[in-house]
Amino acid sequence: MQIEGFMKYEQILKTIYKEVTSLENTGEVASYIPELAKVSKDHFGMYLNRIDGNNYAEGDTDTKFSIQSISKVFSLTVAFANQGDALWNRVDVEPSGNPFNYLSLLEREKGIPRNPLINSGAIVVADCLVSTLKNPKKDFLQFVRDLADDQTINFNEEVAASEKATGFKNYAIANLLKSYNNLANPVEEVLDFYFHQCSIEMNCKQLSNAFVPYANKGKSLLNDACVSAKQAKRINAIMLTCGFYDEAGEFAFEVGLPGKSGVGGGIVALLPNEFVITTWSPALNEKGNSYYGMQALEKFTTQTNSSIF
Ligand code: GLN
Repeated sequence: MQIEGFMKYEQILKTIYKEVTSLENTGEVASYIPELAKVSKDHFGMYLNRIDGNNYAEGDTDTKFSIQSISKVFSLTVAFANQGDALWNRVDVEPSGNPFNYLSLLEREKGIPRNPLINSGAIVVADCLVSTLKNPKKDFLQFVRDLADDQTINFNEEVAASEKATGFKNYAIANLLKSYNNLANPVEEVLDFYFHQCSIEMNCKQLSNAFVPYANKGKSLLNDACVSAKQAKRINAIMLTCGFYDEAGEFAFEVGLPGKSGVGGGIVALLPNEFVITTWSPALNEKGNSYYGMQALEKFTTQTNSSIF
């Protein structure tokens, strides 16, 4: 679907950048993790990585930011590759329709999280990785570096420590999981891993590169088969239905692509066999998704006629 030439994509991103930045940014930078509140609201970048090898950047695409919940896609990928369908005995694949840190559903559903992209599900996935990886933090970071073909990617220790000091809801979730026997390792150990995975810093370009396998039948930028085509298909389905918490329906409605957001203000979305697009703007709407990012992606898929629908 090469409906647009090189100049066209460049032009489209430029126009969208202008249109979006002329809107009043009504979002707020996340402050419940104190370290994240230090980031200026003014950043905005978009990076389009086409599977045919052409890339297009506009705005702030080289500045690293906290990927936060976007990391849940990477941890899910490792757990799914290691454990296969046995993973679904511990976490479901249904949209939650609730905020990412919601507790009540978990109680009602006896400790089986609704899906792997809300916090409770991601904490179960983190537990799987703590059990199966030799050196969990080091091995996971290496996996992300290889996905993006960039060995400079790292954790931000200040952000991890900041969330460790204030992540009371996540402690509550992990304890509830433990009470239902859905956490094999100690709460502290699992959350230490989880806070670190969320603290990984990447820029728009690195994230777009790291998401190539989901748009390319499982094959990464380096042509490594890091996940099977079948698993990539399933992970995309989970992103489409669960990637934006209680705004997943709205994202499918407005943008129409599988994707994942994080409270650091990043959003990655993809059209299988065509492209990955990443946006970053730290100010979030009331559902915890980047305000400018949502606007930009709606304009992009509408103007290029490139949603999955
Ligand atoms: N680390 C964050 C938390 O657990 C991630 C949330 C997010 O990005 N939506 O609260």
